[in-house]
Amino acid sequence: MEHRKILLVLADGIGDRPSRRLDGMTPLQAAQTPNIDEVMHGATCGLLYPIAPGVTPGSDTSHLSLFGYNPYEFYRGRGPFEAVGAGIDVRPGDVAFRGNFATVDSDLTVTDRRAGRTLDEAGKLAAFLSSELKLEGVEVIIRQTTEHRFAVVLRGKGLSDAVSDTDPHAPGEKLLASHPTATSADARRTAEIVNQITAIAHERLDEHELNQLRRSRGLPKANAILLRGAGSVSTLPSFPSKYGLSGFCVTGTAMIRGFARMAGLTAPLLEGATGDSKTDVGVKAKAAIRALRANEFVYVHFKATDAAGHDRNPELKVEMVQKLDHLVGLLLNELGDDVILCVSGDHSTPVDLGEHSADPVPILIRAPDVYPEGSRFTERSCAFGGFGRLKGEYLMPILLNHSNRITKYGE
Ligand code: ZN
Ligand code: ZN
Repeated sequence: MEHRKILLVLADGIGDRPSRRLDGMTPLQAAQTPNIDEVMHGATCGLLYPIAPGVTPGSDTSHLSLFGYNPYEFYRGRGPFEAVGAGIDVRPGDVAFRGNFATVDSDLTVTDRRAGRTLDEAGKLAAFLSSELKLEGVEVIIRQTTEHRFAVVLRGKGLSDAVSDTDPHAPGEKLLASHPTATSADARRTAEIVNQITAIAHERLDEHELNQLRRSRGLPKANAILLRGAGSVSTLPSFPSKYGLSGFCVTGTAMIRGFARMAGLTAPLLEGATGDSKTDVGVKAKAAIRALRANEFVYVHFKATDAAGHDRNPELKVEMVQKLDHLVGLLLNELGDDVILCVSGDHSTPVDLGEHSADPVPILIRAPDVYPEGSRFTERSCAFGGFGRLKGEYLMPILLNHSNRITKYGE
């Protein structure tokens, strides 16, 4: 039997709920998606619970689940994914966090969790902090990822990832002190270190010349760091050996790149794939098509739909769905008919909620020999599709089946 190649496209946070601001439609219903509609004429569809009904996934736990790694077994915090994706060589014993540059006022109340979001200085500020934060017995590595985001790695003896976030997760709240979440001396020490670097970072950033310059231009200072998602590396069984597929990942998002690398997929930095609404889908399509020549499995991640959901911006989410459609169109132009194409999402991020939800996401699988359903790719029409309702852990087995790679169980 001929083995087929697999192209998986996941749009982050694509699922939604009907919104009054879109006349009772979801962004997928309101958008013009001629290319995905065309794919639907050769595809079977359904709804996908990325982890399970009633579980609201993070992008990290969802990706683990969809690629066949039980998140309840393998998830050790988001920090390590972000740090590996940022190009830091994370080692066993290290503790990694995700971080944001933020704006705080004089009593440490967070006034902007993203320091205005447009922060061209972020790379320089991260490098400055990396050289500035010298503590006894622990190395602090900080590297910017995208926009105002960065990864932090603490390296040294006696560290623990059992510490709480300093990110209050909402503006108007005070910067939090990190607390140990376990009773060990390592956890207590690590929480103290986190609080120390948070205090030093605030002091040095507040007086930094780039922040003085921002203030003079009327921009919010990036004068604090917010840390979250403490984690240490857990070894993921290699995706290529688990499935017998060589794999490649196309993404502009550090966290996803880190996940992919930890799973043993090739995940290079791609110039122009930015992980935001300005991402160059031409670059992504070209990289995916090229990768399909040498790999059995190619994963394309599209982030901007999630960000529009978090921004509670229905028009932007519609626009980003249309951008995804454009990406699918570019892929279709070059894609052989025998390649399995799957389009879905890693969770829903409803625009009226501004956060992830446990709603299932639509999924389609195009293959030469599935029943074509010919409807639109929306939450509503996929609810009537042939795949019914799937859990994330079934995604890879189903894709492997359609690529003729499942061996018989029994005689
Ligand atoms: Zn996500
Ligand atoms: Zn999100």
